[in-house]
Amino acid sequence: MMKFTVLTLFPEQVEAAFSHSIMKRAMEDGKIELRCINIRDYTKDPHGHVDDAPFGGGAGMLMQAEPIYEAFSDLQEKETPTKVIYCSPRGRIFSQKIAEELAGESHIAFLCGHYEGVDERALELTNAQCYSIGDYVLTGGELPALVMMDAIARMVDGVLTNNESADFESFEDNLLEYPQYTRPVEYEGLRVPDMLLSGHHKNIEEWRRKEAIKRTYLNRPDLLKNADLSKKDLEYLDELKKKGGECND
Ligand code: SAM
Repeated sequence: MMKFTVLTLFPEQVEAAFSHSIMKRAMEDGKIELRCINIRDYTKDPHGHVDDAPFGGGAGMLMQAEPIYEAFSDLQEKETPTKVIYCSPRGRIFSQKIAEELAGESHIAFLCGHYEGVDERALELTNAQCYSIGDYVLTGGELPALVMMDAIARMVDGVLTNNESADFESFEDNLLEYPQYTRPVEYEGLRVPDMLLSGHHKNIEEWRRKEAIKRTYLNRPDLLKNADLSKKDLEYLDELKKKGGECND
């Protein structure tokens, strides 16, 4: 069971994303729990403001520390999260490996920034760790929190059924997933590779392994340095390099 608490100015955006498909089922089955806390409910400003101009000047507005810390303290009185994450482009890049590690927590709180971000003291007071979902800047932390929660939840026991298994996916062993096909055998003149129809499991495994290496070489060569490649895999990779990725066997 994993509990997620999201501190946000836009709880509806977060709740809407959990009301479909696998996340909805996981909540109904009691595998994950989602609670949103509206930071605006904790402002003491008579007009409901939660932001102000940055000291020292600069563009935009910053979310103030007080409503964030008040919201967090209220949460802590009920239940202290085992991990607090601030979604931020300046954070450590989130990955499948980090998702797997975080799935071992029991209660993760996400702090979603908006405008130009949050007053630094909010991060110190909540002991938040910063994670980024990639090298680009979004308007708010809600989508990054949803991305991270989705990836973490998939790693929680019982969230995926056997049919949705997380085995042999991209990033498994630092290789991207091989191409997959389902019925019909031929569509718009494009046929499923004969190998996959052969029923020869060992050859199919070998074909998939080569395709995974090829895709990784073409799309994410940076992953290959940490992949556990056999002598045979390395020979295939050499062949690919010589042919510029155009190796079809
Ligand atoms: N001024 C901030 C900076 O340069 O780092 C960017 C603020 S951004 C416009 C507003 C909020 O969106 C951030 O506080 C953060 O919560 C969220 N955000 C934007 N891009 C993100 C990313 N790549 N990963 C995680 N959170 C992000």
